Parts: sequence; structure tokens; C-alpha cells
Amino acid sequence: MDLERLAKPFLKNITPYKPGKPIEQLQREKGLTIAPAKLASNENPYPPHPKIREALVKAIDDVNRYPESGSPELVGKLAARLGVSRSEIIVGNGTNELIDLLIRAYVESDENCVFSSLSFAIYKIVSVQCGVKGIEVPIREYRHDLDAMARAVNAKTKIVFICSPNNPTGTYSTAREVDLFLSRVPDHVLVVFDQAYLEYVRAADYPDTLALRKERENIVSFRTFSKVYSLAGLRIGYAVADARVIDSLNKMRQPFNVNRLAQAAAMAALDCGAETDAYVEETIRERERMRRALLDMGCQCPESQTNFLFVTTKDFSGDVCKGLEDLGVIVRPMGQFGDTGNSFRVNTGTPEENNRFIDGLRKVLGRA
Ligand code: PMP
Repeated sequence: MDLERLAKPFLKNITPYKPGKPIEQLQREKGLTIAPAKLASNENPYPPHPKIREALVKAIDDVNRYPESGSPELVGKLAARLGVSRSEIIVGNGTNELIDLLIRAYVESDENCVFSSLSFAIYKIVSVQCGVKGIEVPIREYRHDLDAMARAVNAKTKIVFICSPNNPTGTYSTAREVDLFLSRVPDHVLVVFDQAYLEYVRAADYPDTLALRKERENIVSFRTFSKVYSLAGLRIGYAVADARVIDSLNKMRQPFNVNRLAQAAAMAALDCGAETDAYVEETIRERERMRRALLDMGCQCPESQTNFLFVTTKDFSGDVCKGLEDLGVIVRPMGQFGDTGNSFRVNTGTPEENNRFIDGLRKVLGRA
């Protein structure tokens, strides 16, 4: 039986998402005595806060029961925190699920989504999975070209994804740029601000996307518990949007899309203020320290508002990522960028891991 041919033909066009190499795999492959520094998936290097651990341990006893559908407690807590109504929030099995639900709920097969050519890979992957067109607008100077993105919108566009700060470049779109963009986008388009890295932003001219919603109904904000709250492994994120959009997403989701442990952990995470803030401050300090070292080595590296940096090596033709792996440091290869050299993305780890990265890169580039 030709099982491959039984599958829908469009599956041939799908290149599966390639996650960062797991720590255990690299340690095995290289026979390393200490755990490699995994700086490839923009994760938080620290375990979750003790209050979260406590909430998780408590929740374990109830995993014989299905979780509450719609995460009502968490929706209530988020609504109060953000000053929006409960009907304007949906919780998902990671922000990834919400991207998937939104495209499936809104985009017909002859319609399209618009996003940058160098942005979060899932917009393109889900567009292909859903059989809808993804219009990719070239990135400019590491930043979204919102002018070109507004021009790319046509009568068949349903969603524009603005990942800000952007993964993988770390750059953001300013309040002024966003205002101008929104004034040019027609009402039949949903504008998504993917704010997975919001908590790391310090730029004074970063837009308040929730406030923008007061004037426009077509704005959706995505946020996640994966990064600052150290919950990437549990899968939980949320969206804030007009109640009619949230209603559509709720109709598309699985009844038990967010598991019990994730709901309990996210509830506790919202009470972990000061220590989470301290981690964010350390991250920002470390990110800047890493960036200075990279610039000193002659690398190109745009300013970042996230927990990661986009790095392009100059005058080096070797495989930087492979060289770093040999030294027990995992970064995310980003291929050829411009005509300058190879690029990769690296996130902040613990200060010790970051030192290993900096020292390792100096060795690989022969600049030790
Ligand atoms: N959006 C962006 C821009 C991201 O970088 C990520 C995580 N890599 C996500 C969404 C997905 O977040 P989650 O873990 O909540 O699915």
C-alpha cells in the first residue's frame, strides 16, 4: 500500500519546524562531561519559581480529571491584571496553538496572510498546513518594513503578523510606525502583534497594543508564559482581542486544549513578581554584555529588545554553529544573511553559559 500517496499532496510542500538541538543529544554525540549550554530556543535558563513548583505539585493529584475547559480562573486573573474583560482573552496550548487557531478560523483557501521574510517560522508553516498563501515581505535592516507590508495587503488578506520584538532579529516596530501602518490597513484585516518577548522590552517608543485596541477592533495581541516564567515545557500562552475574535477562536479550539498543570503553573506565575523582574534585569544586562563582546569580535548584531541576539559573522566562511557545538554550546543556525556571512541566533543563558559562548566563539573565529 502506498501510504505516502494516501496523504494529501500539499504535505510535500511542508518543511517541518526544526527545533534547537536537545541538550541530551549533543552531550551524547560529543561525549561531553558537562551539560552543553543550550542557547538555541530563546528559553529561560532557570527553573520555574518555587511558588510555581508548589502549585504544580499540588495540581498533580488532580490529573486524573480533565482540565477545566477555557481556563476560566486564569482568564479571570489575566483580565483583571490587564484591565480587559474576560470575553477578550483566550488561553492556548502555547501561543503556537493560537496562531494555528487564528489562521484556521479566519483564512479561506483563496486568501492570504502577510508577514516578514525573516520572522517567526510558525506563521509560514501554519499557512502552508492550512493551504493558504503566505505573502512574505522582505525584512529591511533587520526590521519589519511596515510600509512594504501595508502595500502587500490586498483584498484577499485576512491576517498580518507583526512579530514585535521580532524573532529572530530582536528588533521592534515603534509606536509611530505602528500607528501609520494601522491607518493604512483596511478593516477586513486582523493585525496580530506577536509579543512573546514583551517583558524584555525597555524601548520608550514601543507601542501599547492593548491601548490601540480602544480605537480599532481588528487588533490581536499574543503573549506567552514560555519565556520569562520558565514554562516553555508546559505549553501555555494567551491572546487578547475583541470578544468576537475570541469567540471564533474558542469555537475552533479543542475542549481541553490547555492541560491542568499548565493552568495551575500560569496562575502561580502571575504572583511571582519581584523574582521574575530580577531575572529579566539580569537577562538584559547579559544580553548587552554579549552584544558588546560580539561587536568587539567584528560580528554584526542589531540591538535587541528580547532575550536573544541575531549575529552575523564577517569574513568567516567556516561553520560557526558546528564549531560552537564541538565546544558544547548550542545556538540556532540562521543560514546566509545578506552577502556578509553566516548568521545564527543566540539567547542569553546563565552568566556562566554566556561566558562559555563568548569564549567559544572567540576560539571558533580565531580571535581568542
Ligand atoms: N511567538 C514567537 C515570536 C516566539 O518566538 C515563540 C516561541 N519561540 C512563540 C510565539 C511561541 O510561544 P509558545 O511557547 O507560547 O508557543
